[in-house]
Amino acid sequence: MGSDNIIKVVKFGGSSLADVNQFKKAYEIVKSDPSRRYVVASAPGKRTPDDNKVTDMFYACYDMAAAGLSIDSFFRGITERYDSIIEGLGIDCDLSEEYEIIKNMLIHKAGRDYAASRGEYLSSIILAKYLGYDFINASDVIFFNENGVFDDERTNTELSLALKMHERAVIPGFYGSMPNDTIKTFPRGGSDVTGAIVARAANADIYENWTDVSGFLMADPRIVKNPLGISVITYRELRELSYMGASVLHEDSIFPVRHAGIPINIRNTNDPSAPGTMIVPSTTDYSSHHIITGVAGKKDFSVIHIEKDRMAYERGIMRRVLEILDCNGINVEHVPSGIDTMSVVVATAQIKDKRNYIAEAIRRSVSPDYVAIEDGLALIAVVGRGMVRSKGVAARIFRAVAEAGINIRMIDQGSCELNIIIGVDESDFERALCAIYNEFVK
Ligand code: ASP
Repeated sequence: MGSDNIIKVVKFGGSSLADVNQFKKAYEIVKSDPSRRYVVASAPGKRTPDDNKVTDMFYACYDMAAAGLSIDSFFRGITERYDSIIEGLGIDCDLSEEYEIIKNMLIHKAGRDYAASRGEYLSSIILAKYLGYDFINASDVIFFNENGVFDDERTNTELSLALKMHERAVIPGFYGSMPNDTIKTFPRGGSDVTGAIVARAANADIYENWTDVSGFLMADPRIVKNPLGISVITYRELRELSYMGASVLHEDSIFPVRHAGIPINIRNTNDPSAPGTMIVPSTTDYSSHHIITGVAGKKDFSVIHIEKDRMAYERGIMRRVLEILDCNGINVEHVPSGIDTMSVVVATAQIKDKRNYIAEAIRRSVSPDYVAIEDGLALIAVVGRGMVRSKGVAARIFRAVAEAGINIRMIDQGSCELNIIIGVDESDFERALCAIYNEFVK
């Protein structure tokens, strides 16, 4: 058993298993803590910026085979990567039979997902051998239904049972099996999902996601110079920030642990002593040093402005406008409104070809005094659980932006007080974001 019966599920991403040195780092990490009992592995990723990910090499192989081309030399490129890892680790692991089977399957067009999945399959066999852990094939424990939708319940039941029978195991990320036993993968980057599924089934105390950064940053480093890292973030804050463009874990990749209330710790394989970022279900156990947790934003929004005298007394205007947008398949982001005005913020790409039609439909339906669609809006979300009930946060945001000489075109605060969203001209976006960051992070 692990120390104090704590169970940690650790997932290593592609960059963490890109070559023999990375495998060695992963080994040290796993071995340094006996509670790291279940390991989910990605396929080897890029070793240098212009290198290929093994997953992409498998996709290319599949495409070549499908086009009737010979895959011999290309396939050898893949096996050489694995063999150099095995050799460098000095382990007794002969994959030649596996290579033969995979190559045959590719030639016989076993499927694109099958091809892509072999990246994690092979790296997991190697890692299991190296660690002295059991190997559990993901196709035996991760299931999709006949529509290709992940089968949550069946997987959780069967995977939990399987894990109980293995004290320590390595499970390949990214794929599972269909009812007809063919292989299906999650979307790209899907080993994160597998890690979360395994963490839930193991009833883990924590899901460690090992990657090549020491957690999330409070702002985009391309905009703010050297932003601070986020030490603790709640699932809801994460959702707000990632929706607004922060490149953090995709929501889909955390749903299994989120529902189970298991915290995720984002860690850096290349800097294992850094604590990384903790993603937690609720704030109660974790106080925040900063009022804001992060600030993120996106460009390319448009605003539909509608004005009508005495709009406030007329029922159904908002409903009719929203109905028009709904019927045209347009997603609404925000609806800030005044007494006799309302605005609807939408992504510009959504109304691209339909703007005249939409304006006309609104004219016909609500007979406004004025309707116009303006582009060039950027939205910035200031997110933080520390904002709840703390006074003067909005004032500080507005002052910081005003002092930078920037006009705020729109304001929206959710009633949960978790975020304040402002709209500025796209040309002011970066400066506004820096001004807000600097106001709260000194
Ligand atoms: N290897 C897969 C990909 O490159 C899945 C993953 O690494 O998470 O997308």
